[in-house]
Formats: sequence, C-alpha cells, structure tokens
Amino acid sequence: MQPKKVTKIGVLTSGGDSPGMNAAIRAVVRTSLYEGLDVFGIVRGYSGMVDDDIHQMDSRSVANIIQRGGTVLKTARCKEFFTPEGRQKAYENLKKRGIDGLVVIGGDGSFKGAQKFSNEFDIPCIGLPGTIDKDIAGSDFTIGFDTAVNTAVEAIDKIRDTADAHDRLFIVEVMGRDAGYIALHSGIATGAENILIPESSTSIEDLITNLTEKSKRKKLVNLVVVAEGDKVFGGAENVSKTVKERIPEADTRVCILGHIQRGGAPTCLDRLIASRMGYAAVECLVQGRHNVMVGIVNNQMHYTPLDLAVKETQTIDQEWLRIVKILAS
Ligand code: ADP
Repeated sequence: MQPKKVTKIGVLTSGGDSPGMNAAIRAVVRTSLYEGLDVFGIVRGYSGMVDDDIHQMDSRSVANIIQRGGTVLKTARCKEFFTPEGRQKAYENLKKRGIDGLVVIGGDGSFKGAQKFSNEFDIPCIGLPGTIDKDIAGSDFTIGFDTAVNTAVEAIDKIRDTADAHDRLFIVEVMGRDAGYIALHSGIATGAENILIPESSTSIEDLITNLTEKSKRKKLVNLVVVAEGDKVFGGAENVSKTVKERIPEADTRVCILGHIQRGGAPTCLDRLIASRMGYAAVECLVQGRHNVMVGIVNNQMHYTPLDLAVKETQTIDQEWLRIVKILAS
C-alpha cells in the first residue's frame, strides 16, 4: 500500500522543556515550507490540540529563536489527552484544518501519547527526543542534555572553588528522577569524589568508607554529586544528614541546582542535533516513514519505531562507573 501523502504538518513541544526545542521547531517549520507543506504550531503540547490553540506558521514565525532556551510554542502536561474523549477532541481540531502529520518534540511520555493517537486516528507521528535527562533509547543525544550538563558543570566548578577555600564538603543535587546521566557526566567532568545515581546503588557504608578513606590519605574531599532520583538516599539533603551523623567533623553543605538546568541558551551541540532532527522528522513524513522517533547514533540519523522508543530506556555503561572510581581515587 502506498503511504498516505502528508500535506499539512502540526508541530508541538510536550512534557518537560529542554534547551534546543526552539532550534527543533525552527528546523521543522523551515523544512516543511521548503517541501511545500503547510505547517501549524500547536501551543502547550497536547493541551493546544485539545483546546484548539493551533496557528499556521511561516518562515518568520521562527526567526531569531535558534539561540533561545525554553520553547516558543510553550509546553504542558495535558490530563485530557489521557482520555479517549480528549484525544477525539484533539483529532477533530486537526481534521478541520486538514493537518495530516505530527511532529512531537518531548520525552517518552509524549511519545506514548503520540503512539496512542496515531493508532486511533491514523495520523502519522514523528517523535524528536527533547529531554535534559537523556533517558531515551535509540539516540546518543537528546535535545537539551548537553546544555543542561554544561550548566551543571559551570555551577559545580563555582561551588568547588568555595568548597576548596573552606575545606567543606558539598553535596550537589542535579536533575534526573529516573536517570543519572546529568549526575554521571557532570560528576566526572568536575572530578566529584562520589556520584550517586538511580542506576547504581552505592550503599551508605560504601559512601562513608570512600569519604573517610580519602580524608585519611589527606585527599581533599569537596564534592559529591547526587541525582535527585537516587534510590538509596533519596536526594542531597538525606546524603548530607547521613554524612553529618557518620562523619561529624565534616563541614557539609547542600546545594540543589534545580530548574537552572532547564534554562539558558542551547549549546552548539544541542542546536545542531535539534536542527538535524527537525529536518529529518519532516523528511520522514514526506517519504512516508511513519511513527518513528528520530535519533542520532554514531553521528548518523537513526530511526526507532515509536512503540520501541517508549519501551526501552538507555542503560548506563558499567565502564563509566569504573572510570568514576579510578579517576576520583
Ligand atoms: P515527557 O514527554 O517529558 O516524558 P510526560 O510524561 O509528562 O512528559 O508526558 C507529556 C504528556 O504526554 C502528558 O501530559 C499527556 O498529555 C501525554 N501522555 C503521556 N503518556 C500518555 C499516555 N499513556 N496516553 C496518552 N497521553 C499520554
């Protein structure tokens, strides 16, 4: 059967925002126009589809946004889209404009919604991985991760200066509820003594032994980086409490980096991958390749069926954890 020809594309950003989403929107809009397709921006993710907040875009709608963090289309979490009635409403709003293809920029939750919607209404959907957490299989990069991790590194370097001046131990909490990539990358890049992530369970005993053993060797012990979703301790405050109980002489402070990691101008890498992915998403729709997530693997475009993309998660290479141990010794 010949794939349905797509003529009008809707683009939306959904779920958690990430720097670089604007560069992806720009690429989708400009590639669509180049291919002679109409393109519509859907405001606040699936909420805009349900509430009919949909606007035609032209080349100028995306002028001067490639360097901006956040998303000009706004983003949201939409409860109604979980219900068949909500998705039906969304479909009616697309149908009345003749929108027959969707590009969804978001995380795995947004892809689950896209997959369901596409199965129900036969609208082809392409997913672009927009998340700072890098927790999606099928791509070496996700839009926003590089910026978030660089923001974390810059902040942690500054914390380390003051930690060093006072001989203090800082427990720095970075984002990552289910995935430890930001903690792992920023921790290695800043020379943290310990990195605590959801994917590996460093026990309380291991942490305390590690810190005391290093102190005995007169190594400066300034920095522990913990992902917010670390399962053993449950965040930086609890790590600090435990360290204070077990090593009372340690002058311990907590710093939670929080939402600063979501904002800011995207790095060159995030702008590049967002531009390549946005372009590839439209080319997919034009060529009749439907219901895939666009990724980049080994610097080549890579396409993962959406149903697989929502099932699989990236696993942390155990060698990285070994590197942490060796380099922080
Ligand atoms: P992210 O895309 O960042 O993982 P969420 O998990 O919050 O963010 O998902 C974003 C939105 O996608 C949800 O608010 C909802 O509208 C839609 N969505 C997520 N999962 C489903 C699902 N199983 N069925 C329908 N819609 C979903």
